[in-house]
Amino acid sequence: MKMLIGGQKTDSSDGRTIDVINPANGKFLDTIPMATEEDVQRAVDNAKKGQKEWTAIPLMEREKIIQRFVRLLEEHKKEIIAVCTRECGKHVGTTIFEYNQTASVFTGYMESAKRLDGQLLVPGSEPGHDGRTASDMIMVTHEPLGTVVAIVPFNAPMLLYSYKVAPALAAGNAVIVKPPTDNPLTDIMITELLLEAGVPGNALQIVTGSGSKVGDWLVKNPGVDAVSMTGSTQVGIGIAEIMAKRLAPCTLELGGNDAFIVMPDTDIDKAAASACGARKGNSGQICISSKRFIVHNSVIEEFTEKLVKLVREIEVGYDDNVEEMMEKCLGNTDRTNTKGEFIGSLISERAAKEVEAQVAHTISQGAKLLCGGQRTGAFYMPTVLAGVTKDMDVAKDLEIFGPVWPVIGFDTVEEAIEIANGSRYGLSGCVMTDDWKLGMRVAREVQTGGMVVNGSSVYRNQMQPFGGQKMSGMGNEGLTTLEEMTKIKNIVLKGFLG
Ligand code: NAP
Repeated sequence: MKMLIGGQKTDSSDGRTIDVINPANGKFLDTIPMATEEDVQRAVDNAKKGQKEWTAIPLMEREKIIQRFVRLLEEHKKEIIAVCTRECGKHVGTTIFEYNQTASVFTGYMESAKRLDGQLLVPGSEPGHDGRTASDMIMVTHEPLGTVVAIVPFNAPMLLYSYKVAPALAAGNAVIVKPPTDNPLTDIMITELLLEAGVPGNALQIVTGSGSKVGDWLVKNPGVDAVSMTGSTQVGIGIAEIMAKRLAPCTLELGGNDAFIVMPDTDIDKAAASACGARKGNSGQICISSKRFIVHNSVIEEFTEKLVKLVREIEVGYDDNVEEMMEKCLGNTDRTNTKGEFIGSLISERAAKEVEAQVAHTISQGAKLLCGGQRTGAFYMPTVLAGVTKDMDVAKDLEIFGPVWPVIGFDTVEEAIEIANGSRYGLSGCVMTDDWKLGMRVAREVQTGGMVVNGSSVYRNQMQPFGGQKMSGMGNEGLTTLEEMTKIKNIVLKGFLG
């Protein structure tokens, strides 16, 4: 596939390409251009014009464009789901879950855009410089940021594209997308459909190539007014440092090491099932997957035994009969029961090797391997680690992005909260207890952007202002946070009121 620069399908100016392969079976899927700095500059220059072209279209017409896009998305549904499934090496059911949310993120943000109505301040309420403000009309308005770079991670390429591109467009910005290099095809296809629906080619562009080069060129480009990035904390910090030099805003949705706290009063069967599901989805490659299982010592043995039984039952594999499986899965919007649905590979062999090394490191620090622990190519077997103590890296800042359940014991509520807060991350978390008051206490004291009582941390509703505390991010995303894609301007009509 090609980049989309100025509405044209574009090769890299030096003709270089990158292969995209299915990580589960190693099959070649396509190539993408490896953009040059010149290509990036062209996209940034176009975006300046594109932003004006886009905002010159009245909002109700822009809404019609998005509605047309939603229809096109539905027409191309099976094609998109198949490509996404193959480039991620996952089960088609997981892709369908992502697909099913994509349209409503776009339409939801268009609805939010209609409510970006600013404010009229009460005249004469405060003296101001001349003390004569009673006849001034003071308007507080929202303006687009300008050109927003949307940097998308590999783990949910369709949904996380939507959470970046939809708000940026809805608020009247031009957008340049930098998709993940391992699986960029879905994002290119969706961009093509948005252009076909009528988004001007200068207002939405996609440039491909490695983050450390293409992403960095974009972030450093002074023509870029804001960055919205989801990915690792390490890369996020680098972006924030660059943006700080020109005091330009960035929204960062970063890594996490979410605590799953099990209190002794809870139903242990339910807790084990929830813990298994909380880590199994997308082969553990979800930012808000529960990643540290902090269990009261009085029930840790029972919990671990039940968890291991469930984890051993998880099927790992891949079936390239994606179209056939899709027919069976379409219509199943209930993702609470994914029994019988295998988990696919990780995004690459490199990613699986990293998980392998992280597990080996944790074992070298004293953890005990109860099941799993093997890697084949890009596949990593679901793994439970017992005997994890609060001083081990995995109990603190080591985020494992794969199907691994480290189990850590505690004796008191204070200790559980201390372990949960002993991480530099603060994305999400959860506590399983029948005592709602205790649940509320833990929810309030754990330092995260979100907490779930009596359910896993894998919880995201489109309306929520989703985001992390501490090193898990900066800013929020959700249908209620469109202001983040705007800047405020005060306009005063001096003496207008007579
Ligand atoms: P990553 O390595 O940080 O990559 C994320 C994106 O940033 C990719 O498009 C990548 O491009 C690009 N990138 C890499 N280096 C860059 C640079 N120097 N400048 C600009 N862009 C650059 O993260 P990942 O491995 O894809 O994703 C996993 C991480 O994301 C995990 O830590 C996970 O917890 C986190 N995550 C957080 C959320 C959330 O909402 N908080 C959601 C999902 C994932 P390339 O692909 O070309 O390297």
